Amino acid sequence: MITIGGRSGRDLRDLRDGTPIGEWNDWKWQFRHRVRSLSQLASALDRPVASLAPCRPVLRTYPIAITPYYLSLLDLSDENDPLRRQCFPDSRELTFSLGGVPDPLDEERDMPVPGLIHRYPDRCLAIVTGNCAVYCRHCNRKRMWRESKPGRTRERLQSMVDYVARTPALREVIISGGDPLLISEPLLDWFLGALRAIPHVEVLRIGSRAPVTLPMRITPELCAILKRHRPLWFNTQFNHRLEITEEATRACEMLLAAGIPVGNQSVLLKGVNDSYDSMRELLYGLERISVRPYYLFQCDPVQGTDHFRAEIRTGMEIMERLWRNISGLCLPRYVLDCPGGRGKIPLQPFSLLPEKGRK
Ligand SMILES: *Cc1c(COP(=O)(O)O)cnc(C)c1O
Ligand code: SF4
Repeated sequence: MITIGGRSGRDLRDLRDGTPIGEWNDWKWQFRHRVRSLSQLASALDRPVASLAPCRPVLRTYPIAITPYYLSLLDLSDENDPLRRQCFPDSRELTFSLGGVPDPLDEERDMPVPGLIHRYPDRCLAIVTGNCAVYCRHCNRKRMWRESKPGRTRERLQSMVDYVARTPALREVIISGGDPLLISEPLLDWFLGALRAIPHVEVLRIGSRAPVTLPMRITPELCAILKRHRPLWFNTQFNHRLEITEEATRACEMLLAAGIPVGNQSVLLKGVNDSYDSMRELLYGLERISVRPYYLFQCDPVQGTDHFRAEIRTGMEIMERLWRNISGLCLPRYVLDCPGGRGKIPLQPFSLLPEKGRK
């Protein structure tokens, strides 16, 4: 039996059936063979497509995408599987009980040019694509999944470069999305180089979930490109220890070997990682693979994510217990990105919590 990251390879073997390992390890093959429809999902689950009918309206608003790799990590028979929850459509995505809005952070307001968010004085965030390898159901930019405008990427990126060049206060540019590793390599190389050529840009940062959902995307060629544009930092998003597989570990190691520090931004997700034990296992796992926990985000009140939102109180209790018990290298900062675009604030009032019941 193949074992990946401690998880039984039963499903993986089925999925890989007939797939040569070389193809399985080719990110383009993985990308092309993603689950993109309800019938493909039904066949992965070995269930009649009619049984997934309640999800049909969800897909009209929020499409599905799951790589065979990520699918191979799930326990398909368990509805509460923490990885399955992150990528399977759920009819609750259409119930906006808490009055969620598509863009609670008002990102669109802080865009001096399309796709570039300039909210904090010294850094800005460039959304280079709305595409992702896997569409995470809890995504705070899920409004963008349907908006990819093919063909105009180069012009959009050029106007971002122009804006950064005429804004000397900017010393750091975060390249994000969507997944920035899904634009073509020559385009990514050009964009990073054009930003790097601006004298006041000191640091670049990439935000990508590829090491988790499509780790084969981290190739020696990609690392060679990224290495040329250092200092470059890389933040990814592991949300559960079962995502720390051999493949994901190798992807992070390749980045680290290229001189690129890798950090992690998790989201606190109900039923995925909203317990002390689950969060501790995730953080220990990250420390073991030299990935520094950076942020733990409170899940934003984005439309279609209500069923993922844990109480802030729960998050604070978990953080307080972690703080008391585990290595400082494992501790992320728990933050809330304030609705209305007022920015991130830390949620760490440890001394304010009552003595009683502390563990
Ligand atoms: C989170 C964020 C950043 C980066 O903030 P850091 O605290 O430096 O990680 C930059 N711009 C926007 C719009 C953000 O949401
Ligand atoms: S990879 Fe990031 S941007 Fe893409 S769907 Fe997941 S959370 Fe959203």
